[in-house]
Amino acid sequence: MRVNPYQAQVEQFNRCAELIGLDENLRRRILAIDRELIVNFPVKMDDGSLQMFMGYRVQHDRSRGPAKGGIRYHPDVDLDEVRALAMLMTWKCAVVNIPYGGAKGGVKCNPKEMSRGELERLTRRFTSEISILIGPESDIPAPDVYTDSEVMAWIMDTYSMNMGYSVPGVVTGKPISVGGSLGRDGATGRGCVFNTCFLLKKMNINIEDVSVVIQGFGNVGSTCARIFHEMGAKVIAVSDTSGGVYNPSGLVIPELIEHKNMTGRVTGFDKGENVPGEEIFSIPCDVLVPAALGHQITKDNAPKIEARIISEGANAPIEPEAEKILIDKGVDIIPDILANAGGVVVSYFEWVQNQQKLLWDEETINDHLYRILNRAFEEVFEFKNKKAIDMRTSAFLIAIERVAEATKLRGIYP
Ligand code: NAD
Repeated sequence: MRVNPYQAQVEQFNRCAELIGLDENLRRRILAIDRELIVNFPVKMDDGSLQMFMGYRVQHDRSRGPAKGGIRYHPDVDLDEVRALAMLMTWKCAVVNIPYGGAKGGVKCNPKEMSRGELERLTRRFTSEISILIGPESDIPAPDVYTDSEVMAWIMDTYSMNMGYSVPGVVTGKPISVGGSLGRDGATGRGCVFNTCFLLKKMNINIEDVSVVIQGFGNVGSTCARIFHEMGAKVIAVSDTSGGVYNPSGLVIPELIEHKNMTGRVTGFDKGENVPGEEIFSIPCDVLVPAALGHQITKDNAPKIEARIISEGANAPIEPEAEKILIDKGVDIIPDILANAGGVVVSYFEWVQNQQKLLWDEETINDHLYRILNRAFEEVFEFKNKKAIDMRTSAFLIAIERVAEATKLRGIYP
């Protein structure tokens, strides 16, 4: 049975709160979700029919700043998944120390079966429905699974039309021409590679000696693959919903990206061998990057994993029971809230540029991203060694302490 993602986050929080001896009142305050909005709305489909959709926007915590978090379009979206992802955003923003709280949104739909026109109408209506919560000072959405920069442009335009003037800071991950930031597109993948390199350095391993396997070949997965390849690592296998492709001598990633752009899938690539998608985790490698959806590594496939490092590109890709198996096997896990925080960090830069009406160049953005992630990684690594705990617990403890401090300082209104 699938683990309830929200329950898993609650348990994780309670375990960490226990470890730091968090005051009972603060614990209840921080665990509680601030706001949950559920909307049912109609969309006119291309064939003239009307279809109803259910969407969500959840703000978990706003003690450290405006709520921040992506919007996901997927058939499996439900309230508990959105709650869990909103909580993760709170910890993610806190662990990298950017001034945001955590939120998430989603619409239960199958974007693969919808035309661009249908997606645009869905996005515009959903934006109007959640406009009572979102805004550049209150709650700033961003892309997530199956939502891209064009979807962000529709959100920005819809919100702006209702306000009567352009409000680029209402959403991040926009196209450059409507206020997007250089470097945002690949920021999550880039951050995931940076974090992996920080850990490899601690282990005295050269990036050129490393083999990499990646599940998922969308925004995060393909960027990770491209940057690992550019840095000289050997990306030996990747997968998407069509299955996997494997080449023990290393895949030529730029050609694979071209193949994926042309055919919509990674399978069928002539310089690799097709493998079933579920076998991707059993391929021996140094670094495994799950970059598809959550809960992909389970107690059933975890025993087959032979990687030294898992860098969590996706949110919550490892189920708690699987994590125990991996830790016993000595696998080092760079937790999602650190490994994939590059996206929200550059989203923060995009929002800052929008608010200040300034433009930064890509070098400045990548430098700032590197510095913020490096500082966060060092803090998590040092605390892990000091307390003899794993990296996930370390990252969560640091994040929860920061949120607790802000909550305490702000006090209770009225
Ligand atoms: P995306 O929609 O661009 O890509 C998702 C990819 O996963 C696609 O290639 C799809 O084919 C693949 N996929 C889906 N199910 C699969 C399966 N069962 N097996 C193999 N592949 C599968 O999404 P994305 O933006 O790259 O997000 C991927 C993950 O990263 C998600 O968990 C998301 O929450 C997380 N994340 C994304 C960002 C971001 O900035 N985009 C930031 C932080 C975290």
